[in-house]
Amino acid sequence: MDDADLLILNTCSIRDKAEHRLYSELGKLREWKALARGRAVGVAGCVAQQQGDALLRRFPQLDFVYGTHNLRRVPEMAAAAFRGVRDSQTEESRSQERFDLPSRHPSLEGDPAGRAFVTVMEGCDMFCSFCIVPSTRGREISRAGAEIVAESRNLVASGIRELTLLGQTVNAYGRHDRRRADARAEREAGAALALAPEDSRESFAGLLARIAKIPGLARLRYISPHPIFFDEDLIRAHAELEVLCPHIHLPLQSGSSRTLERMRRRHTAGEYRQLVERLRESRPDLAITTDLIVGFPGETDADFAETLALVREVSFTDSFIFKYSPRPGTAARSLDGEVSDAVAQARLEELQDLQRSLTLQAHRARVGEVAEILVEGPSRRGGAQLSGRDPFHRIVNFSTEAESPPAPGSLIRVEIVDATPHSLIGVWSGAVDDDRPPRIVKMGASIADERRAVISS
Ligand code: SAH
Ligand code: SF4
Repeated sequence: MDDADLLILNTCSIRDKAEHRLYSELGKLREWKALARGRAVGVAGCVAQQQGDALLRRFPQLDFVYGTHNLRRVPEMAAAAFRGVRDSQTEESRSQERFDLPSRHPSLEGDPAGRAFVTVMEGCDMFCSFCIVPSTRGREISRAGAEIVAESRNLVASGIRELTLLGQTVNAYGRHDRRRADARAEREAGAALALAPEDSRESFAGLLARIAKIPGLARLRYISPHPIFFDEDLIRAHAELEVLCPHIHLPLQSGSSRTLERMRRRHTAGEYRQLVERLRESRPDLAITTDLIVGFPGETDADFAETLALVREVSFTDSFIFKYSPRPGTAARSLDGEVSDAVAQARLEELQDLQRSLTLQAHRARVGEVAEILVEGPSRRGGAQLSGRDPFHRIVNFSTEAESPPAPGSLIRVEIVDATPHSLIGVWSGAVDDDRPPRIVKMGASIADERRAVISS
């Protein structure tokens, strides 16, 4: 900060707490700006989109504000800020231009940890009653498949081993484009065939299959899928695509169908349960993690008990658990049945305790296994330990006595020797041969058999 001329705060407004952090940070930046001449401050992201000009009015130390569709304008806004011009840009872009971002600075090319995110769609049209995302990120828009595949190829060519496809409801990829194309085909017979390639969008499963073929790609993930957009092809992809990791983050929010309906999630608890069964039939060792909200308006003890029961039944490997936070302009604000903070807090803690025990159980079951790890760097636990993630997206902290420890971004084998509720503990047991195909899971075996098969292979 001492050396910087320009600071940009990127913001989240998914919950009230995240929004308030911005205000306290901006207070501190007032002093920073006053310490030297020629300093500028910008605010980006969802709070910027939500507040726009109001932020400039409220914080005189702030030079510019840009929303979720205006990243392309940063260079020009920053230049204006240094000339003393204050500006706010928050208009929504519905064109493909928004995906066309300036290239990264060469020093940032190729994440040393060997992982990268690729945006495949943006925005959200689901309007879950608690959620501010549809208003901060705008309408759902999917990126052309050719662009996605080209970016993925370039990333893999630059040494990236793991790609995560990104979208608010990532598996809804292309749905509006396909619907429009179908409607057009109905209107003018044969028009679907005549569609320009940039107007057509394949299914999400089709997109995964194309990316999975990129030579050198070791791991493919996607986040966040919505339960209602899993079709047969996507479920089958988990059995068929070897590089597709055996982990899905599948937000549940609540185990009570009554609450799910009030949340406008468009599925019941039973439908979620069936989806999990189908996914596990397709990929028996699949690790499933989730998001849960407690204290949603009208949530009774009985509703909460259903959440506890479903969490136990699905046995999530991990979950993010949130207390409901009322957000401006969302439908849930007009629901009655406010849950007191004391009750919400007690539910949060009970669910966290349950999840901790499920996570520990899942981790303990893996002691003795040899896991494939993508190395990230020094462990947060400190000491000489390194850290990385396994295909199930679990953090593995491991020690090595080798003189030259594995570099970030390399794929190695680690023997799991211990488990905590947060991570697995391991010992480095060798490199994964880069020419080897990624680990193959034999279908139809029990999870334990599969794991033995993986270890012995
Ligand atoms: N698009 C994803 C979720 C994105 S938001 C999906 O539909 O699954 C990430 C998580 O934040 C949500 O899954 C939800 O659990 C939580 N969240 C969103 N709005 C919230 C609110 N108002 N209060 C508490 N948690 C919220
Ligand atoms: Fe928010 Fe996800 Fe619902 Fe969209 S699908 S409104 S991002 S919770």
